[in-house]
Amino acid sequence: MNLAQLISEIAAKYADKPAIIFAGKTWTYQEFDRQVQNYATSLDLLGLKKGDRVAIQLPKCIEFLFFHFAILSIGAISLPLNPDYRPEEIVYFLTDSGSSLFVTNSQLLSKVRSAIQDLTELKILLKEELLPPTEVILPKYPAGGDDIAMICYTSGTTGRCKGAAISHRNLIANMKALHKAWEWSDRDILLHVLPLFHVHGLNVAALGCLYAGATMIMFEKFEPRQVWETLAAKNCTLFMGVPTIYQRLINEWGKLESQTDLQKMRLFVCGSAPLSDQQFYQFENITGFRILERYGMTETGMNASNHIAPEHRKAKSVGFPLEGVEIRIVNPEGKDVAIAEVGEVWIRGANIFQGYWGMPDKTAESFTDGWFHTGDLGFQDPDDGNRLYLVGRAKELIITGGFNVYPKEIENVLESHESVKESAVVGLPDNDFGEKVVAAIALNEAINITPEELIAHCKIRLAAYKCPKQIFFVSELPRNAMGKIQKNILVQQVSTSL
Ligand code: AMP
Repeated sequence: MNLAQLISEIAAKYADKPAIIFAGKTWTYQEFDRQVQNYATSLDLLGLKKGDRVAIQLPKCIEFLFFHFAILSIGAISLPLNPDYRPEEIVYFLTDSGSSLFVTNSQLLSKVRSAIQDLTELKILLKEELLPPTEVILPKYPAGGDDIAMICYTSGTTGRCKGAAISHRNLIANMKALHKAWEWSDRDILLHVLPLFHVHGLNVAALGCLYAGATMIMFEKFEPRQVWETLAAKNCTLFMGVPTIYQRLINEWGKLESQTDLQKMRLFVCGSAPLSDQQFYQFENITGFRILERYGMTETGMNASNHIAPEHRKAKSVGFPLEGVEIRIVNPEGKDVAIAEVGEVWIRGANIFQGYWGMPDKTAESFTDGWFHTGDLGFQDPDDGNRLYLVGRAKELIITGGFNVYPKEIENVLESHESVKESAVVGLPDNDFGEKVVAAIALNEAINITPEELIAHCKIRLAAYKCPKQIFFVSELPRNAMGKIQKNILVQQVSTSL
């Protein structure tokens, strides 16, 4: 089925119920659906057809959602783009996807206008210039389950960004699995502070809410105090964030004048990057809530999640495969590793994307017999129902003197020291060892420590080959919009300071 059609049917069921509250304005399900139909009509009148690609680059706004679902309604393919992308990046995404239409606003257009002037076939639609159609053409939903609904460019850290082509069926399968796992209902009220251009904010949080017939309160930007106040004042039940967001919520909690009433809250969900055990326990200590960590990626949607029952949520674990998702841990030869050993996580299921747009070779390389190679390293704990733990990206594995070092293990040890706010461990080329272990550290304020003392802290807890040979202090670690540490940038930074 077409995802937009499914959401439209849900909208009919919950017609008068608030669907989205954005910037103080409430949109009922019926109003939301009408807007989607208006926008779909406008896109239809612009001549867009099934399979055409439409790129949307907008700051977080309600119109983003109208456009997105309108694009799906007419069977076209939605391509959400980060408003922070630079002109050269935009040119690449528009060209690589062969987009017919670029939806943006005048401010963002002014930055890319000269860069895109050679794309003569490209139509441009400014959000503020879109007029409501005089007559609405009801969507016929020409695209079905197996058709591509979205192309999401991976936040790739090496080489060209790849466009993950995701079908309507992929999105719906994932949504259904999450609904079951997290027990969504139409009584839920979600506080939405994530960007809409990323799968976490769009396909998990926003889509999950609409699919449940729930209500979503959306803020353009994340502001920790506003989150604590709104969760209490608006009886929110659900919140989704990335570790950086949770860290800032923890920091803000101590500054609140009175305790926040979280009686209606049922679930704090975290993903997109590893949540440290410090963050997990600190959050539990202050709020009484155990964060539910889940694991997903652009290409796959959500793969694994901790259990809804708080007593079955564990720090540093991403839980168990979601319904319909299968997980294997394999060695570099593509064979299953021995029980509890670290290997690459391979995934199979209805949630897995259809391939990389225009890159058949990359797609072929990324699959074996229907199993998608995630590039994540992890292991399963046989004593706990094969609970999944991630230890880092395969590309970030450090091989020093022939030994494998998983950066996460070293980062955990470094972060167990009271002086360390956050850390990132990378491998740098080394004549003797092939690679050497190096750590970048952001320190907690007002605690003095030397690199040698931190290395000594590691030596007590880790085999010598795993201990950092050098430590660099930085004011903060480079992160992307989803809070993921950009280790490629870090490697450049530390290499130049050597
Ligand atoms: P993206 O495609 O931008 O969503 O990034 C996906 C990648 O984020 C995954 O392949 C993992 O490396 C990482 N990731 C997502 N969720 C988690 C998590 N809960 N813990 C650790 N890493 C995660």
